[in-house]
Amino acid sequence: MICPHCQTAFTEEWSHLPLGRDENGWWWVSRTVCDADHCRKVIARLGRTDWETSAPSEGVLVRPRSTARPVPPEVPDPYHADFVEATLILPDSPKASAALSRRCLQSLIRNEAQIENQRLSDQIQGLLDSARLPSWLSENVDAIRNVGNLGAHETKDLHTGEIVDVEPEEAEWLLEVLEGLFDFYFVQPAVQSRKREALNEKLERAGKPQLK
Ligand SMILES: [Zn+2]
Repeated sequence: MICPHCQTAFTEEWSHLPLGRDENGWWWVSRTVCDADHCRKVIARLGRTDWETSAPSEGVLVRPRSTARPVPPEVPDPYHADFVEATLILPDSPKASAALSRRCLQSLIRNEAQIENQRLSDQIQGLLDSARLPSWLSENVDAIRNVGNLGAHETKDLHTGEIVDVEPEEAEWLLEVLEGLFDFYFVQPAVQSRKREALNEKLERAGKPQLK
């Protein structure tokens, strides 16, 4: 199976622990452990076997609460780690997920686009003004400012550490925008560079001048 924590494939060995029974059926937890060296995390499902049909349910994931969205290997830390955590925490706390996503966005814009501002909404304006993003990505980034009414709340947020209220869909939107920016800053440059290298190898074998 693919580990829902770290997205690595591993051979699972489930063990089942009975929890007891009630009017809804027999309850159980099944658990396995990811064997990737960097992970080793427990994965657990809560399941129920129906009284009437004796059919066991598939079980719902209780640890982690949701499957991490895959992050391309080209994306470095801390963005990679922040993004994974923001996806895992989303079902439990959209607010916490959005706060992590915003932190990730701030460092991404500061480090990759060299736009320093204390406030995320000002950084976003700077990024849009730089006109370096493709238009679809600019529009998505621009829309972030409406998440939890960011522009209006940010001064308060900045000084009190208060976490802005967001809807789950808004927290999810932040993740989608981050995925678009990851693709632009890390994935596409790596893909294009691999393509150029492959072409240069062919040109070299053919005895032709290489691309610069
Ligand atoms: Zn894992």
